[in-house]
Amino acid sequence: MKLYSTIDRLDFRTGRWSSHVTRGTSPPLGPEGYFCTIRNNDIFYMGGYCGHDNCYHNDVNLFNTLTYEWNKLMSSSDIVMKRGYGGMVCMESMGTEYLVAIGGIGSTPTTYQSQYQYDQMVNGHVHTNEHNLLNLSTRQWIIPTISGQCCPPTSGFTLTKISNNKSVLFGGLVIGDERYAVPVNNVYTCQLESDTTIHWESVKGPVVPASVQWPVERHGHAITSIISDSPTLVMIGGQGNDGQLVNDSWLLDTSQYQWSKIVLPESVTGRKSHSLSPIMMSPDCVWLVVVGGAGATEWRDVGRGVKKPFSTCITDPNITMLIELGKN
Ligand SMILES: [Zn+2]
Repeated sequence: MKLYSTIDRLDFRTGRWSSHVTRGTSPPLGPEGYFCTIRNNDIFYMGGYCGHDNCYHNDVNLFNTLTYEWNKLMSSSDIVMKRGYGGMVCMESMGTEYLVAIGGIGSTPTTYQSQYQYDQMVNGHVHTNEHNLLNLSTRQWIIPTISGQCCPPTSGFTLTKISNNKSVLFGGLVIGDERYAVPVNNVYTCQLESDTTIHWESVKGPVVPASVQWPVERHGHAITSIISDSPTLVMIGGQGNDGQLVNDSWLLDTSQYQWSKIVLPESVTGRKSHSLSPIMMSPDCVWLVVVGGAGATEWRDVGRGVKKPFSTCITDPNITMLIELGKN
């Protein structure tokens, strides 16, 4: 496997990809599973997994999509657990914007924050529900206090912003019996209440009447928010309980937290660890762009009875898919 840190741009009107030369500081060295979010024309990248042993990062880099310039925002820090596969959003409190990084999986932390949990897996990697706030004006890290019912240590979930100070977390992997990771299908909301407090609520989970639709457990799915009367989340794909792709897609209405299933072709839904972006064409019509990802995990014998997970990247003609969602 090769890791890249190149920048490619998709023109959705022509469907063409183009490669770009970047400027500024050197780009992050192509780790996988980095935290990522956008604000205006900027893309923020934090940490990620290096691809060998249990080497993770926690520096923060910024890419400007107009100037194609990289900037290092934060160097490595001892108070933030080095990790990847968590969630990051940009939220606002009293006129100040913060990067909010939550959960994930990483190497043994340098600093254990007392209000968070750290679960070691059989392979030595550590799952956490650690939260970090980065004040974008002062460029200082804050370890916030949590109130309400926070998620347990989780990785591979989605964290999606639905208002200036509120986000929705769905799914991911938690540590189950025998210290192995198992997928879940819970929904939580988290709200930035002040510059130091995040309030969590658990939305009624899958323990609901059989008539109520609820997606199965998964990780490596993709969710994006489309704005109609109230924000609606669109979810595509992911990997389920038995290591198989879930091959489905759902809408989550964030006023009532009701799920409804939508039907999309398997060439779109049959993937995990992909990206999903909305383009609002009109109030009644949104285009969804699905890019990349991988197929189901296969456990292959690498000799001496040791099995390792492999999955194949999605290939052409299915790498970039465009779907139109109309009203109803
Ligand atoms: Zn490394």
